[in-house]
Amino acid sequence: MTAAPVFLPGSTIGVMGGGQLGRMLGLAARRMGYQLHSFSPERDTPAGQVADLEVCAQYFDEEAVRTFAKGIDVLTFEFENVPVESIEWAAQHCVVRPAGRVLEVCQHRLREKTFLKAAGLPLPAFMPVENLAQLEAAVAQLGTPAVLKTAAFGYDGKGQRKILKESDLAEVWSSFAGQKAVLEAWVPFERELSVLVARGTDGSTVTYPVCENVHANHILDLTLVPARITETAAEAARAIAVKAAHALELTGLLAVELFLLPDGTILVNELAPRPHNSGHFSLDAAMTNQFEQQLRAVCGLPLGSTELLRPCAMANLLGDAWEGGEPDWAAALGLPSVKLHLYGKKEARPGRKMGHLVAMGATLEAAEALVRDAQARLTRRGA
Ligand code: AMP
Repeated sequence: MTAAPVFLPGSTIGVMGGGQLGRMLGLAARRMGYQLHSFSPERDTPAGQVADLEVCAQYFDEEAVRTFAKGIDVLTFEFENVPVESIEWAAQHCVVRPAGRVLEVCQHRLREKTFLKAAGLPLPAFMPVENLAQLEAAVAQLGTPAVLKTAAFGYDGKGQRKILKESDLAEVWSSFAGQKAVLEAWVPFERELSVLVARGTDGSTVTYPVCENVHANHILDLTLVPARITETAAEAARAIAVKAAHALELTGLLAVELFLLPDGTILVNELAPRPHNSGHFSLDAAMTNQFEQQLRAVCGLPLGSTELLRPCAMANLLGDAWEGGEPDWAAALGLPSVKLHLYGKKEARPGRKMGHLVAMGATLEAAEALVRDAQARLTRRGA
């Protein structure tokens, strides 16, 4: 067996996707003396703004993908919905980490759930749905409430419908317009958690402290680290993430979203084979941030310490904060241990992730109060 290639500082990283996750990877790469090239269908993207080269082309543009791959040493992702064919084209010219088959599993809910089930990981009961008769049978089997989710291209609660006893299944199914779907049993969770795990080319792994996530309108609103759970639950959550990373034979970073039930049971909600919104706390509050960790993993370098420096809280900054005009940055930054991150997006739309705030404190409660205060100060104009 030949040793896996290692890419040292000075090498060129390619990233598929132009969003904030690619931007923060780019910043980590530059800090460590790497070049970063970004590839996405848009121009002047958050990633492209910090890249050495921003390529603007469609993911299915074979010639553009091949040219891009020839100009880099290793390709990684900040977005998993890249066509598998594009990844195969790239893999003929450069190293691709994580491998295309990992993306293929994670970009499709049904494949992901089937994979996780076969690997012995705990997850909510689910059934595939391709037509109304299958939906009716699945609801009869799994009961209500339940959630119908599109099999492909779902994120932040998009493409999901909750199904109740009185729901009109024909109407729900028609709103899916023939898209393949998965029906999932409703999980009466106590908390939502996530674990970030990095796995190196040698199969070694590191996990970050467990994140506790609070959503608003299906979008991540707040992450608290460390999660307010027992040590036993935290160890179980981290063990699940490591098991998933090994099962995928991942090289890179994986975020595992989890549900914690009142009886201590932990179930996997979904996977993302890349840095994750809930891991943004690590930019300020961990020894190695998730983007540096992704870089180390995909370059074949030793993984960094995931030690948490202080209890912290991360609050997302959505476009809604711009509704009454430019947010009051100075007011928020008047809190000296609050950190502001903005992604360079020109247009603030409601629900769009524009940036985030991180606060650290002597206790988790203090950090949470501080980040909430900072969030409120942004929009308290003239008060
Ligand atoms: P997803 O896009 O699958 O991560 O779902 C978005 C959010 O919807 C999750 O973070 C949960 O808050 C909620 N959700 C998704 N699936 C379920 C479920 N089976 N039971 C209860 N809540 C769910």
